[in-house]
Amino acid sequence: SICKKEGAMVSFFGTETQKAANERLLLESHLLDALRLNELEVYYQPLMSLRQGSKIIGAEALLRWHSPELGNVGPDRFIPLAESNGQIIEIGNFVLHQALEKASHWFKLTELPFKIAINISPLQFRERHFVEHIEDLLRLYQVPPQSLELEITEGILLQDEHHAKGSLAALRAIGVSISLDDFGTGYSSLSYLQKYSFDTLKIDRSFVSHLEFNEQNRELTRAIIAMAHKLKLAVIAEGVENAFQESFIRDEGCDYAQGFLYGKPVTAEVFHQLLRAQE
Ligand code: C2E
Ligand code: MG
Ligand code: MG
Ligand code: MG
Repeated sequence: SICKKEGAMVSFFGTETQKAANERLLLESHLLDALRLNELEVYYQPLMSLRQGSKIIGAEALLRWHSPELGNVGPDRFIPLAESNGQIIEIGNFVLHQALEKASHWFKLTELPFKIAINISPLQFRERHFVEHIEDLLRLYQVPPQSLELEITEGILLQDEHHAKGSLAALRAIGVSISLDDFGTGYSSLSYLQKYSFDTLKIDRSFVSHLEFNEQNRELTRAIIAMAHKLKLAVIAEGVENAFQESFIRDEGCDYAQGFLYGKPVTAEVFHQLLRAQE
């Protein structure tokens, strides 16, 4: 009967929700020990200049979690958890230390100015003394501020506009550059571009993938690059996977690119070899 069916469906969804909740709890309980147990590792994905041939001019630090119990867990799954329980402060700090320590060697290896790009969560950014903390770390690892790029998302700007504005200005004043990540996926991006000062805009992967099949993606990508340049922002295209996509964005004047065409995120050791092979 209908009644029975409904009952079955309720319990079906009930079970699924319970399962999802259990998975989340399991992930979270393991994540709490992940740092202490050395399960987190920072990988580096090459950032390419499209101007000077195709040269590595930097790297984006991307966190990996190798869990003996759960296998490799992607940051799209564990970063949101760490953000919701506050652990992102400690984890984000770990990434800053690791990446800046590596950058202190890498910026000496390259002829072109080297950039290390580090993702910063809203909670981290809103910490008291965040700017001073960044200054301390740059001093500690002797990395020139010009070699550091912080990647933020619109989420940072949503909560406390006044504070965000002040911190962004202070960071840029010491020479650190700021890029707006995942551009095109959030809300009211255009008004943010006007209100805050950034250095770089990262076009989200969803625009860049399927450029070859999708006329609308091509139009949007073209428009974003033109608009960014009008606003004197540099542009990075994320998720470049093939030669068509590269030649399209290069022809449109895009400054930098990142994607599997050039390299997936790799360990510090492997990235170091890539950099040495190039220079
Ligand atoms: P994101 O900052 O937008 O990083 C770019 C993501 O695109 C990375 O995924 C990278 O591996 C992936 N990617 C790059 N090129 C290609 C491509 O050609 N094809 C495809 N299919 N993917 C490509 P990943 O490493 O899984 O990171 C996902 C997200 O997790 C990041 O997106 C970032 O939002 C977050 N995340 C990663 N590491 C950190 C971290 O240390 N701190 C914070 N707060 N967030 C992080
Ligand atoms: Mg990023
Ligand atoms: Mg992105
Ligand atoms: Mg992303």
